[in-house]
Amino acid sequence: DKIKLGLVFGGQSGEHEVARVSAYNVLKVIDLDKYDVVTIGITKDGRWMIYTGDWDKLPDGSWEQDTDHLRTDFSVFTDPLIQSIDLFWPMMHGPMGEDGTIQGVFEMMNKPYVGCGVLASAVGMDKVVSKILFERAGIPVVPYIYFYDRDWRKNQDGLVKDSEAQLGYPVFIKPVNMGSSVGITKAHDRVEFLAGVDNALQYDSKILIEKAVNAREVECAVLEEDGEIQTTLPGEVVASKEFYDYEAKYADDQDSKIVIPAEIDSATIAKIRAYAHDAFAAIDGAGPTRADFFVDRDTGELYINEVNTMPGFTDISMYPMMWGNMGVGYSELVERLIQTAKRKKVTDY
Ligand code: ATP
Ligand code: MG
Ligand code: MG
Ligand code: MG
Repeated sequence: DKIKLGLVFGGQSGEHEVARVSAYNVLKVIDLDKYDVVTIGITKDGRWMIYTGDWDKLPDGSWEQDTDHLRTDFSVFTDPLIQSIDLFWPMMHGPMGEDGTIQGVFEMMNKPYVGCGVLASAVGMDKVVSKILFERAGIPVVPYIYFYDRDWRKNQDGLVKDSEAQLGYPVFIKPVNMGSSVGITKAHDRVEFLAGVDNALQYDSKILIEKAVNAREVECAVLEEDGEIQTTLPGEVVASKEFYDYEAKYADDQDSKIVIPAEIDSATIAKIRAYAHDAFAAIDGAGPTRADFFVDRDTGELYINEVNTMPGFTDISMYPMMWGNMGVGYSELVERLIQTAKRKKVTDY
């Protein structure tokens, strides 16, 4: 009997487009002798559609116009096809995909799914809550402050002065719940700071300010299988711009470079892998997660930046490529993620 896999792709976040490409790449390598795949797309405005058309229409988004192959009038809780699915893979990044919301839907449906559970997903998405857990686990983080929209409205001058006193310039200003660098700016002075906070507030009501590190960016892939946490040798991202912003990540960028394995000393590599393991445990992770670090070029100091609980998953994304370097190819990785999810019960997340 074939296993019925529900691949949910797209989603409402700023990372919708990336998620479509990730999903397409996964679909291309899935063993169709073994799996029956039901593809369920979520549009940017949040409409769920069962898509039975050609998967080639995923990357450019034209699946949404393929009306002969779309079904929209269903409820995930009652539709017989959806109910017959054995397990789900939410191929979505950012809010409403990577943050525990859709994971909660799967749990209410009593279906296993690939990746982190509700708590780990929500914590991983929140750059402040995750930092607090990392600090408690003894993993160094960059100096930071955070505040809410309401604090900013009441006490803007005080917050600017706090930030300047504690962090100086330059700083990074981030919406707390986001990904793909959306809403992130680097501020070199007070004018840029004010503009950066206003910009970040368009994406979230909780704002994080971090001291800017003159950093090499090193990432480590983590995978949990049957309770066993595994890490890869790290890889390095060499951004073509002042920082690794949305453009540098996705806009046909020839200049950003990926180096796998990262060319760093073995003591630092060992530390990165240990911290990646501990960070994953600290957020109560499951499934694929990418832990991102900074190595300070000036001091050699190592910091964890963040964890991503549904990392980019195209065949040229860091996460699969770091596994590739360990001898685990893309299709094997896909198969292992599905198999480990299938063995789970909802109580295992
Ligand atoms: P992702 O796509 O990896 O989920 P994200 O949107 O969650 O990204 P961050 O990884 O926190 O955002 O930041 C985006 C980029 O900004 C980093 O990859 C790095 O280039 C730069 N950056 C962020 N914080 C700092 C910092 N404190 N010091 C130096 N560079 C930073
Ligand atoms: Mg992130
Ligand atoms: Mg992300
Ligand atoms: Mg990042």
